[in-house]
Amino acid sequence: MADPAPLRVTVVGCAPAYTLRPGRPSSCYLVEAEGTAILLDLGQGSFSALGPFIDPATLDAVFVSHLHPDHHADLVPLRHYLRYACDPPATVALHAPAELRSRYDALLGEPGFLDGLPGSDVSPGVTQVGALAVDARPVTHATQSHAFRVTRVDGAGPGLVYSGDCGRADDLLPIVRPTDTLLCEASWGSSEAPAEGGALHLTAAQAADVAKRTGAARLILTHVLDERDPDGALAQAQRLFDGPVALAEPGMILEVD
Ligand SMILES: [Zn+2]
Repeated sequence: MADPAPLRVTVVGCAPAYTLRPGRPSSCYLVEAEGTAILLDLGQGSFSALGPFIDPATLDAVFVSHLHPDHHADLVPLRHYLRYACDPPATVALHAPAELRSRYDALLGEPGFLDGLPGSDVSPGVTQVGALAVDARPVTHATQSHAFRVTRVDGAGPGLVYSGDCGRADDLLPIVRPTDTLLCEASWGSSEAPAEGGALHLTAAQAADVAKRTGAARLILTHVLDERDPDGALAQAQRLFDGPVALAEPGMILEVD
Protein backbone atom coordinates (compact mmCIF):
# COMPACT_ATOMS: atom_id res chain seq x y z
CA MET A 1 0.00 0.00 0.00
CA ALA A 2 1.29 3.48 -0.79
CA ASP A 3 2.47 5.60 2.10
CA PRO A 4 -0.17 8.07 3.27
CA ALA A 5 0.28 11.67 2.22
CA PRO A 6 2.29 13.81 4.65
CA LEU A 7 0.75 16.58 6.68
CA ARG A 8 1.40 19.88 4.96
CA VAL A 9 1.90 22.79 7.34
CA THR A 10 1.94 26.40 6.15
CA VAL A 11 3.09 29.17 8.46
CA VAL A 12 0.57 31.91 7.69
CA GLY A 13 1.62 34.09 10.60
CA CYS A 14 4.08 33.66 13.45
CA ALA A 15 4.39 37.06 15.16
CA PRO A 16 3.71 37.43 18.88
CA ALA A 17 1.32 39.95 20.44
CA TYR A 18 2.88 42.90 18.58
CA THR A 19 5.48 43.64 15.96
CA LEU A 20 6.63 46.67 14.00
CA ARG A 21 7.93 44.46 11.21
CA PRO A 22 5.47 44.78 8.31
CA GLY A 23 4.08 41.73 6.59
CA ARG A 24 4.22 39.60 9.69
CA PRO A 25 0.79 38.43 10.86
CA SER A 26 0.33 36.91 14.30
CA SER A 27 -0.08 33.21 15.04
CA CYS A 28 -1.80 31.20 12.31
CA TYR A 29 -0.83 27.80 10.94
CA LEU A 30 -2.64 26.00 8.11
CA VAL A 31 -2.53 22.19 8.34
CA GLU A 32 -3.72 20.13 5.38
CA ALA A 33 -3.96 16.44 4.53
CA GLU A 34 -5.99 14.54 1.96
CA GLY A 35 -8.44 17.35 1.27
CA THR A 36 -8.91 18.41 4.89
CA ALA A 37 -7.73 21.89 5.93
CA ILE A 38 -7.67 23.35 9.42
CA LEU A 39 -6.17 26.40 11.07
CA LEU A 40 -4.37 26.47 14.39
CA ASP A 41 -5.04 30.03 15.62
CA LEU A 42 -5.99 33.10 13.57
CA GLY A 43 -4.16 36.10 15.01
CA GLN A 44 -4.19 39.69 13.79
CA GLY A 45 -3.31 40.14 10.14
CA SER A 46 -3.52 36.46 9.33
CA PHE A 47 -6.91 36.42 7.59
CA SER A 48 -5.75 38.35 4.54
CA ALA A 49 -2.48 36.40 4.54
CA LEU A 50 -4.51 33.22 3.94
CA GLY A 51 -5.36 34.47 0.45
CA PRO A 52 -2.41 32.94 -1.42
CA PHE A 53 -2.96 29.56 0.23
CA ILE A 54 -6.67 28.79 0.57
CA ASP A 55 -10.18 30.18 0.20
CA PRO A 56 -11.16 30.60 3.86
CA ALA A 57 -14.69 29.36 3.09
CA THR A 58 -13.23 25.93 2.29
CA LEU A 59 -11.60 25.51 5.70
CA ASP A 60 -12.91 22.58 7.69
CA ALA A 61 -12.18 24.02 11.14
CA VAL A 62 -10.33 26.63 13.17
CA PHE A 63 -8.81 25.66 16.52
CA VAL A 64 -7.91 28.46 18.96
CA SER A 65 -5.20 27.72 21.52
CA HIS A 66 -6.15 30.36 24.10
CA LEU A 67 -7.91 33.64 24.71
CA HIS A 68 -5.13 36.13 23.96
CA PRO A 69 -6.11 38.16 20.88
CA ASP A 70 -2.92 37.55 18.90
CA HIS A 71 -4.25 34.01 18.54
CA HIS A 72 -7.79 34.73 17.34
CA ALA A 73 -8.42 38.42 16.54
CA ASP A 74 -8.96 37.71 12.83
CA LEU A 75 -12.04 35.67 13.61
CA VAL A 76 -13.76 39.02 12.98
CA PRO A 77 -12.83 39.27 9.27
CA LEU A 78 -13.36 35.51 8.86
CA ARG A 79 -16.86 35.84 10.28
CA HIS A 80 -17.64 38.79 8.00
CA TYR A 81 -16.21 37.04 4.93
CA LEU A 82 -18.28 33.90 5.50
CA ARG A 83 -21.41 35.98 6.10
CA TYR A 84 -21.15 38.66 3.42
CA ALA A 85 -18.80 37.43 0.69
CA CYS A 86 -20.24 33.95 0.34
CA ASP A 87 -23.65 33.32 -1.26
CA PRO A 88 -25.19 31.54 0.50
CA PRO A 89 -23.27 32.33 3.70
CA ALA A 90 -20.66 29.69 4.50
CA THR A 91 -19.82 28.11 7.83
CA VAL A 92 -16.52 26.91 9.26
CA ALA A 93 -16.29 24.94 12.50
CA LEU A 94 -14.68 26.82 15.39
CA HIS A 95 -13.20 25.04 18.39
CA ALA A 96 -12.16 27.66 20.94
CA PRO A 97 -11.92 28.16 24.69
CA ALA A 98 -15.33 28.25 26.35
CA GLU A 99 -15.33 31.98 27.11
CA LEU A 100 -14.36 33.16 23.65
CA ARG A 101 -17.85 33.43 22.17
CA SER A 102 -19.24 35.50 25.03
CA ARG A 103 -16.21 37.81 24.87
CA TYR A 104 -16.87 38.51 21.17
CA ASP A 105 -20.57 39.08 21.88
CA ALA A 106 -19.61 41.71 24.47
CA LEU A 107 -16.93 43.34 22.32
CA LEU A 108 -19.13 43.62 19.25
CA GLY A 109 -22.39 44.23 21.12
CA GLU A 110 -24.05 41.47 19.13
CA PRO A 111 -25.24 38.23 20.75
CA GLY A 112 -24.31 35.20 18.65
CA PHE A 113 -21.64 37.13 16.76
CA LEU A 114 -19.73 33.92 16.01
CA ASP A 115 -22.76 31.74 15.26
CA GLY A 116 -21.57 31.38 11.65
CA LEU A 117 -18.68 29.42 13.10
CA PRO A 118 -20.40 26.66 15.09
CA GLY A 119 -18.40 24.11 17.05
CA SER A 120 -17.54 22.66 20.41
CA ASP A 121 -15.39 24.29 23.07
CA VAL A 122 -11.78 23.15 23.13
CA SER A 123 -11.32 20.59 25.88
CA PRO A 124 -8.68 17.96 26.52
CA GLY A 125 -8.88 15.06 24.07
CA VAL A 126 -9.06 14.28 20.40
CA THR A 127 -11.32 16.01 17.88
CA GLN A 128 -11.54 14.40 14.45
CA VAL A 129 -11.89 16.67 11.43
CA GLY A 130 -11.99 14.80 8.13
CA ALA A 131 -8.57 13.26 7.54
CA LEU A 132 -7.03 14.90 10.63
CA ALA A 133 -7.10 14.29 14.37
CA VAL A 134 -6.37 17.16 16.77
CA ASP A 135 -5.39 16.21 20.31
CA ALA A 136 -5.77 19.16 22.70
CA ARG A 137 -3.70 19.16 25.91
CA PRO A 138 -3.90 21.78 28.66
CA VAL A 139 -0.74 23.84 29.12
CA THR A 140 0.30 26.52 31.59
CA HIS A 141 -0.14 30.05 30.23
CA ALA A 142 -3.39 32.01 30.40
CA THR A 143 -6.63 30.46 31.54
CA GLN A 144 -7.93 27.71 29.22
CA SER A 145 -4.70 27.34 27.22
CA HIS A 146 -3.99 24.28 25.10
CA ALA A 147 -1.26 22.83 22.93
CA PHE A 148 -2.33 20.77 19.93
CA ARG A 149 -0.89 17.60 18.43
CA VAL A 150 -2.16 17.06 14.89
CA THR A 151 -1.90 13.71 13.12
CA ARG A 152 -3.67 11.86 10.38
CA VAL A 153 -7.01 10.57 11.62
CA ASP A 154 -5.66 7.06 12.21
CA GLY A 155 -2.96 8.51 14.47
CA ALA A 156 -0.28 6.95 12.31
CA GLY A 157 3.06 8.54 11.58
CA PRO A 158 4.70 11.54 13.16
CA GLY A 159 2.59 14.50 14.13
CA LEU A 160 2.84 18.24 14.39
CA VAL A 161 2.90 19.59 17.93
CA TYR A 162 2.02 23.26 18.24
CA SER A 163 2.80 24.50 21.73
CA GLY A 164 0.33 27.39 21.68
CA ASP A 165 1.78 29.82 24.20
CA CYS A 166 2.84 27.11 26.62
CA GLY A 167 4.91 28.80 29.33
CA ARG A 168 5.99 25.72 31.28
CA ALA A 169 8.32 23.53 29.26
CA ASP A 170 7.59 20.34 31.20
CA ASP A 171 3.95 20.51 30.11
CA LEU A 172 5.07 19.65 26.58
CA LEU A 173 7.03 16.52 27.47
CA PRO A 174 4.03 14.14 27.48
CA ILE A 175 2.67 15.64 24.26
CA VAL A 176 5.62 15.45 21.87
CA ARG A 177 6.43 11.97 20.56
CA PRO A 178 9.67 10.85 18.93
CA THR A 179 9.96 12.03 15.30
CA ASP A 180 7.25 14.68 15.72
CA THR A 181 7.78 18.19 14.39
CA LEU A 182 7.71 20.65 17.30
CA LEU A 183 6.43 24.12 16.46
CA CYS A 184 7.24 25.84 19.72
CA GLU A 185 6.73 29.32 21.01
CA ALA A 186 9.91 31.02 22.29
CA SER A 187 8.79 34.52 23.19
CA TRP A 188 11.81 35.16 25.39
CA GLY A 189 14.20 34.35 22.56
CA SER A 190 17.87 34.14 23.46
CA SER A 191 17.31 35.28 27.05
CA GLU A 192 18.90 32.98 29.60
CA ALA A 193 15.71 32.81 31.64
CA PRO A 194 12.08 33.81 31.26
CA ALA A 195 11.51 37.50 32.02
CA GLU A 196 10.81 38.03 35.68
CA GLY A 197 7.27 39.13 36.27
CA GLY A 198 6.53 38.67 32.58
CA ALA A 199 3.86 36.49 31.08
CA LEU A 200 4.39 32.74 31.03
CA HIS A 201 6.44 32.02 27.92
CA LEU A 202 9.54 30.00 26.97
CA THR A 203 13.10 30.79 25.96
CA ALA A 204 14.64 29.26 22.86
CA ALA A 205 16.84 27.13 25.12
CA GLN A 206 13.79 25.72 26.86
CA ALA A 207 12.17 24.91 23.51
CA ALA A 208 15.36 23.18 22.36
CA ASP A 209 15.50 21.18 25.57
CA VAL A 210 11.95 19.93 25.00
CA ALA A 211 12.86 18.90 21.46
CA LYS A 212 15.94 17.08 22.73
CA ARG A 213 14.21 15.28 25.59
CA THR A 214 11.27 14.13 23.51
CA GLY A 215 13.19 12.99 20.43
CA ALA A 216 11.47 15.44 18.12
CA ALA A 217 12.61 15.25 14.51
CA ARG A 218 12.91 19.01 14.21
CA LEU A 219 12.19 22.24 15.98
CA ILE A 220 10.57 25.34 14.55
CA LEU A 221 10.78 28.38 16.83
CA THR A 222 7.87 30.79 16.64
CA HIS A 223 6.25 33.75 18.46
CA VAL A 224 9.66 35.28 19.29
CA LEU A 225 9.42 38.89 20.43
CA ASP A 226 11.27 41.31 18.12
CA GLU A 227 13.24 42.72 21.04
CA ARG A 228 14.35 39.25 22.17
CA ASP A 229 16.89 38.61 19.41
CA PRO A 230 15.24 36.08 17.05
CA ASP A 231 18.51 35.29 15.24
CA GLY A 232 20.30 34.74 18.53
CA ALA A 233 17.43 32.51 19.62
CA LEU A 234 17.89 30.39 16.53
CA ALA A 235 21.63 30.07 17.10
CA GLN A 236 21.11 29.14 20.73
CA ALA A 237 18.55 26.44 19.90
CA GLN A 238 20.85 25.05 17.20
CA ARG A 239 23.63 24.68 19.78
CA LEU A 240 21.38 22.74 22.15
CA PHE A 241 19.40 20.49 19.80
CA ASP A 242 21.04 18.15 17.29
CA GLY A 243 18.15 18.06 14.83
CA PRO A 244 17.17 20.73 12.31
CA VAL A 245 16.05 24.04 13.82
CA ALA A 246 14.46 26.97 11.99
CA LEU A 247 12.71 30.21 12.77
CA ALA A 248 9.11 30.26 11.58
CA GLU A 249 8.61 32.71 8.73
CA PRO A 250 5.39 33.69 6.96
CA GLY A 251 4.94 31.46 3.92
CA MET A 252 7.16 28.68 5.24
CA ILE A 253 5.83 25.27 4.23
CA LEU A 254 6.69 22.09 6.12
CA GLU A 255 5.90 18.51 5.30
CA VAL A 256 5.45 16.25 8.31
CA ASP A 257 6.02 12.60 7.41
ZN1 LIG B 1 -0.72 34.14 24.98
